[in-house]
Amino acid sequence: PRKIAVLTSGGDAAGMNASVRAVVRYGISKGCHVYGVYEGYQGLVDGGDRIRRMDWKSVRGWLSVGGTSIGTARCMPFKTREGRLRAAENLVHHGIDSLIVCGGDGSLTGADVFRSEWPGLLDELKKANRITEEDATTYGHLTIVGLVGSIDNDMAGTDITIGAVTSLHRICESVDSIGTTALSHSRAFVIEVMGRHCGWLALMAGIATGADFVFIPERPPMEDDWESTMCAVAHRHRMLGKRKTVIIVAEGAIDKSLKPIRPEYIKDILTDRLGLDTRVTTLGHTQRGGSPAAFDRILATIQGVASVDAVLRSTPETPSPLIGMTSNKVTCGPLMKAVELTHEVAKAIGEKNFARAMELRDPQFAE
Ligand code: ATP
Repeated sequence: PRKIAVLTSGGDAAGMNASVRAVVRYGISKGCHVYGVYEGYQGLVDGGDRIRRMDWKSVRGWLSVGGTSIGTARCMPFKTREGRLRAAENLVHHGIDSLIVCGGDGSLTGADVFRSEWPGLLDELKKANRITEEDATTYGHLTIVGLVGSIDNDMAGTDITIGAVTSLHRICESVDSIGTTALSHSRAFVIEVMGRHCGWLALMAGIATGADFVFIPERPPMEDDWESTMCAVAHRHRMLGKRKTVIIVAEGAIDKSLKPIRPEYIKDILTDRLGLDTRVTTLGHTQRGGSPAAFDRILATIQGVASVDAVLRSTPETPSPLIGMTSNKVTCGPLMKAVELTHEVAKAIGEKNFARAMELRDPQFAE
C-alpha cells in the first residue's frame, strides 16, 4: 500500500482539520496507510512519535474544529539542509512514500525545496550510512502534494485558500461590532487586519462592510498627498450624513515608496485634519477564525480527497501538484509554478510594479 504522511504548517487556518480528516479517511478507503505528522515540519525533523499512523477514529469530530489538531509550527531547522536531511531520513525510516502538506506560501515553498532536493538528500544519507542502498532505491521518488491552508489567500494557483473565508467572516463580524459603537459616538475607527503581504482580507472586508477607505500592499495610494484624498473621502461621507468612519488597513499596507502605512499615523491624520474622535483597533488573533465556515469545511474536504487522488495518480515523471480551486472547479497544477508566481507578486511590489502585482493576485481587481 501507499504510505502517505500529512502535515499542517505555517499559520493555523480554519479547515486544516477538515483537510487532514479527508486525507486520512479517503486514504484509508483507498487502501493507503496514512500518517499524521505532528507540529508541522518540526515533526518531520524530529521523527519518533511525532509521526503517527492514523486510523478512521483518529480524526473523529475534526470537521467542525478550527485550527489544526495535529499542530503547526514555524520550523527553522527545515530551512537548513541538515534539517531536511533528518526529515528525509525519518520519512524513509517510517516507509513513507508520499507527503501532503497543508500550509501557506512559505510552507509550500519549503515543500518545493524538499521536492527538488529529494534525490540529492537520499544520496547524501546513503553515503553517510544513514539509510541503506535498498532504501535509497525504494524511496527514490517522493510524491509531494500541496494543499493551500492560509487565512491570507496569498497563494497563486488557486482563487481561494482554506481558512480565508472563515477569517473574513470573523473580520466582518468584528467590523460590524465596531460599527455600532462608531455610529453611537460618531467616531472614526482605523482597523488593522491580517494578511501579511496580501491585501485580500482587507479589500474583501472593506467591500463586505462598506468601509470608507482601504489600504492594501498591492495597490498603494498613488497621490503624493494621499492623506488629503483620504480626508476628502471621509469628509464627503460625513457631509452626506454618515455618523461613522471606518478605514481598513492591511497589516502589510505600504505607500508608493514602499514605506509601511501604520494605523496610528492614519488616526493622527483623521484627528488633526478632520477633528474626528478616532480610535485604532487591531483585530489580532480572533481573525484566525475558530470554528470553520461551511465553505472551508467543504473546500478542505474536496481538496483533501483530490490530494489523495493526486498521490495515487502520480508517477516519478509527474511534477509535484498543488491542489487549487479556480472558477469553482478543483484544480491540480504544478506546485513549482504556483510557488514561482507567488514570489513574483512580492518581486513586482518590490519593483513598484503595482499593476503587475494586482494582475497576478486577481485580474478581476486589476483595473
Ligand atoms: P501563512 O500563510 O499562514 O503565514 P506560511 O506557510 O506562509 O503560512 P511560513 O512561516 O512562511 O508560513 O512558513 C512555515 C514553515 O515552512 C517555516 O517555518 C519553515 O519551516 C518552512 N519554510 C518556509 N520557507 C521555506 C524555505 N524557503 N525552505 C524550506 N522551508 C521553508
